Amino acid sequence: MSTITEITAKTILNHVKQPDTWFGLKYNMNLYRGCQHQCIYCDSRSECYRIEDFADIQVKVNALALLEDVLPRKRIRGTIGFGSMNDPYMPVEREYRMTGQALEIIARHDFPIHILTKSDLVLRDLDTIKEISRVYAAVSFTITTTNDDLAEKLEPGAPRPSARFEAMRCLADAGILTGVTMMPLLPFLEDNEENIRQIVTRAEESGASYIIPAFGVTLRPGSRDYYYQKLDQRFPGLKEKYIHHYGDQYQCSVPNWQDLNRIFQEEITRAGIRSKMPVFIPEKRSGKTHQMTLFD
Ligand code: SF4
Repeated sequence: MSTITEITAKTILNHVKQPDTWFGLKYNMNLYRGCQHQCIYCDSRSECYRIEDFADIQVKVNALALLEDVLPRKRIRGTIGFGSMNDPYMPVEREYRMTGQALEIIARHDFPIHILTKSDLVLRDLDTIKEISRVYAAVSFTITTTNDDLAEKLEPGAPRPSARFEAMRCLADAGILTGVTMMPLLPFLEDNEENIRQIVTRAEESGASYIIPAFGVTLRPGSRDYYYQKLDQRFPGLKEKYIHHYGDQYQCSVPNWQDLNRIFQEEITRAGIRSKMPVFIPEKRSGKTHQMTLFD
């Protein structure tokens, strides 16, 4: 049984130290700890993150005040990422609306954003995202299968992929940059030609501008144990196949990744979709913008 508790955080906006080649993030923000989507492959369960029970949710109730305080003092305008250690639109967001309110603060201070989610709840903030998109806004949906039944076993707490594609269509129709993160593509479960073709076709129909792929999954102490436990429950015999192929490896690439990548490249070329997303280049904030925020 998972719990929801309220905590106070010391800081809210972290600098992304390494250049982020996927999303161009300059800052990262986690308004919650833990994630209700409970994906069986989630890397956030790795021991190195020291989250005791990942199903228990902690809400950083002072996060909005911290954000309001720190944003005007940032000298560099760069993309703020939502969704690295949890999903910013997991069910608890319905009640707390931490993500929605953080977006409103960001809109007032003219910062760009990238949202990574598996939920159509993001549509609730469509107007704010649209406002932010005058600077830069992108919403990426993680989708690794088009099969809702398979997704139910892999991501039991998240909305179905079909709901994510519908949300993508709404965002694209509203002129928001949107696309797919096709990661992780799980070995022996999702690494087939039909799945790749279907994801690209559905993304194309839904107005995706990009699909960022990763042909495999990463597993390490903590995340591997949980994943194997769930494989035993939901896909009997598969754990043994993983152990045979990968042992204790961190990077578990799908065995046929070169063939799948070739098919993927063919498909996105046909669909006119890119495998990278256009990102916001960080810039110094002008005095004008800074003053405007001071006198707001
Ligand atoms: S939505 Fe993301 S953070 Fe949440 S459980 Fe799934 S993979 Fe982990």
